Amino acid sequence: TRTLVMEGVSKRFDTGTVALTDVDLHLAAGDFVSVVGPSGCGKSTLLRLASGLDHVTGGTIEVNAHSTSYVFQEPALLEWRSAIRNVELTGELRGVPTSDRRARAQEALDLVGLTGFEQQFPRQLSGGMRMRVSIARALVTEPDLALFDEPFGALDEITRLRMQTELQRIFQLKQFAGLFITHSVSEAVYLSNRVIVMSGRPGRVVADIKIPWDYPRP
Ligand code: ADP
Ligand code: ADP
Repeated sequence: TRTLVMEGVSKRFDTGTVALTDVDLHLAAGDFVSVVGPSGCGKSTLLRLASGLDHVTGGTIEVNAHSTSYVFQEPALLEWRSAIRNVELTGELRGVPTSDRRARAQEALDLVGLTGFEQQFPRQLSGGMRMRVSIARALVTEPDLALFDEPFGALDEITRLRMQTELQRIFQLKQFAGLFITHSVSEAVYLSNRVIVMSGRPGRVVADIKIPWDYPRP
């Protein structure tokens, strides 16, 4: 099944700016697609359309996912809530019973390597750890489609490499469909089985490159 199908998609804002034109993009479960391209070429707009946060003004978009998650560049954690209470938030909003959502939050924190840090508050955690909490909060819903807007852009190089390895491991385990914006071509190649190159104003897809999973990765 195709988790995300965009056909001939364009986006014009009320300001008159055309951010995207004629974008075709298909994602299936098990696809992890990175999006690279210069600032302003419409990468974030593409992600917002895929998430339903914004609507297309031309073409069609179809999302076949029970749950979609969105990871922002900034971890955007609630400072007055512990790590586990941050991860529980989505469950709370959806009315998941306490014991169930506590168990699922614990599982998600274990998955991102934060066992033992459940009760820490965001300000007590490093940048990489805060990003892990943010990823746990996104993945706790078991999304079929996970959208990442340059999540590792603000991390130092070592933490970033660790997070890449971590995300790759989680993805191999969970096999959702992923769409991942990055400014780093090496990060794109490391994480993905496809790299989309966008360019221009309005932005369009100028290359769609397959990278076999058995391509040598460090
Ligand atoms: P990227 O993520 O590749 O840097 P964006 O998707 O953020 O690109 O932006 C693409 C273009 O759309 C830019 O010209 C930007 O200024 C414009 N844009 C983005 N969001 C809005 C908005 N809400 N209203 C008007 N113009 C926008
Ligand atoms: P990025 O670095 O990811 O491209 P931006 O700094 O371009 O992010 O945009 C940050 C936010 O501001 C986004 O939510 C985007 O939609 C909005 N935005 C960008 N350009 C404009 C614009 N010209 N008018 C209104 N909103 C905009």
